[in-house]
Amino acid sequence: MNDAVQTARQPATETALDFDAIVIGAGVSGLYQLYRLRELGMTVRVFEAGSNVGGTWYWNRYPGARFDSESWTYGYSFSQELLDEWDWDEHFSGQPENERYLNFVTDKFDLRRDIQFRTTVTAAHYQEDGNCWKVTLHDGSQYTARFLVTAVGVLSASVLPRIPGIETFKGQSCHTHNWPKEPVSFAGKRVAVIGTGATGIQAITEIAKTAGHLTVFQRTAQWSAPLHNSKVTPEEMADIRKNYADIFAKCQETVGCFIHAPDPRSALEVTPEEREAFWEKRYGEPGFGIWMGNFRDVLVDREANRLMSDWLAAKIRGRVTDPVVAEKLVPKTHGFGMRRVPLESGYFEVYNQPNVKLVDLAETPIESVTPEGIRTSDTDYQFDMIIYATGFDAITGAFDQIDIRGTGGVSLKEKWANGPVTLLGILVDGFPNFMMVMGPHAGLGNFPRAVEYTSDWVTALIGHARDSGLTRVDATPEAAKGWTDHVIETNEGLLFTEVDSWMTGINRNLEGKQVRRVMRYSGGHPAFRQRCDAVSAGGYRELALS
Ligand code: NAP
Repeated sequence: MNDAVQTARQPATETALDFDAIVIGAGVSGLYQLYRLRELGMTVRVFEAGSNVGGTWYWNRYPGARFDSESWTYGYSFSQELLDEWDWDEHFSGQPENERYLNFVTDKFDLRRDIQFRTTVTAAHYQEDGNCWKVTLHDGSQYTARFLVTAVGVLSASVLPRIPGIETFKGQSCHTHNWPKEPVSFAGKRVAVIGTGATGIQAITEIAKTAGHLTVFQRTAQWSAPLHNSKVTPEEMADIRKNYADIFAKCQETVGCFIHAPDPRSALEVTPEEREAFWEKRYGEPGFGIWMGNFRDVLVDREANRLMSDWLAAKIRGRVTDPVVAEKLVPKTHGFGMRRVPLESGYFEVYNQPNVKLVDLAETPIESVTPEGIRTSDTDYQFDMIIYATGFDAITGAFDQIDIRGTGGVSLKEKWANGPVTLLGILVDGFPNFMMVMGPHAGLGNFPRAVEYTSDWVTALIGHARDSGLTRVDATPEAAKGWTDHVIETNEGLLFTEVDSWMTGINRNLEGKQVRRVMRYSGGHPAFRQRCDAVSAGGYRELALS
């Protein structure tokens, strides 16, 4: 099909279309994608459901929301001017600073004028006669574009728990992802938090500081380790600025694009003393080193993982005064790192406070939400406020919310009913001119690092199509199958695949999300980039171009 390049030269920008490209979402990915496509001289419209930019960092305003990645590894790397102008205030900066940063970027590059806010995309249908996408918005209006790029995020479709009576509660309630913009006071209030994932752990720690009384409803305990956040001093910022090139280069070398790389040793080949000294050191350092910079076999070898889990369990027991409560906080259903490790700032000590109670739902499950509070199998709790830190319909959820249809009217949701099928996590066969920045089968990790690479790849493909007069680019079914099989292979032998979590496609609150699926590429970002580079350098042979 590549031969068609030679024969089908046409102008890429056709007046009949409203835009050259439509981007869905104005978060970290959508902003960068807009910037890059504009550089190609294209007309672009971004549709964003929120009233401002920021995506994850616009929505998640819950108390305690902050980076678990070092701030200075999380910012965009593409503009030296931007790097020179922006000072990070904290090593792991909080939501307000992150939102300010993304607004700063938006204004600096004058991105706002191409973004339509308070706009939800409800449908996107490929038009075979015009080789373009027709996008329908919540108000029924429709726009066409040659290319459709989704920048909808991995964790953006929030999910309330399936608990009877949830709508009957008379007090205040909200999901952490949909936190109000106005300040929320917990003083003197009886507050409930359901959920102890990375979000719950951040929120609980902060809310416990001021709540009259806080009750935490925990279904599964988490392996959590200290974040060790601190202010960035002017001297440190000067140093960071000087070293940005090295910092970003280091991130590119690691599996998850973090500055933390695994220790090449096995946990089993060192002495118990060396092992514990190493873990003690990691536990005392900021950030994800304890997860991403652990012994090389902790996430793949059962014995290494057991040793690490036992070591961390002792840490939890050492931090919680009441041994019965401590025992409830030690995970029993999965080993360390098999779920995303939440980083905490005094989380376990919260349970030593007189105003905090832990309810273990494994012992006393929730039966219902009542007008006054929450009923478990043994108690009727009364609350002024219920906070749902209950997670997301991850990775594919944001896609499922849009009626996306490719050639022949095939629905993306139906195509992915038994798990995603993609090429490079970017293209889907049968969905021409449709590109995903951080879709399923992408590698997870330090998000902006992966976003910049993926968006650049998408931009190069769109540029190639424009320059070659192509109006239709699609993954071949063979190439999509090949990539999907490869993604499955990269997950083999990793202990996280044996555990229910959003990373394995499980959400116990949703029908159809009860079977574990391969959702992410686990071969590491360097290998991912090699594969993508090979496709573009090879002239996109894995794509049908016309
Ligand atoms: P999550 O990890 O999916 O956790 C959801 C929590 O809610 C779990 O504890 C879950 O229990 C509980 N839950 C769900 N339904 C429930 C029900 N019906 N009854 C009782 N408990 C229920 O979601 P999350 O905490 O929002 O985190 C998702 C991801 O977002 C993280 O893993 C991370 O990647 C990202 N995140 C990042 C940051 C950061 O960068 N700083 C901060 C927050 C989140 P089970 O475990 O039993 O299912």
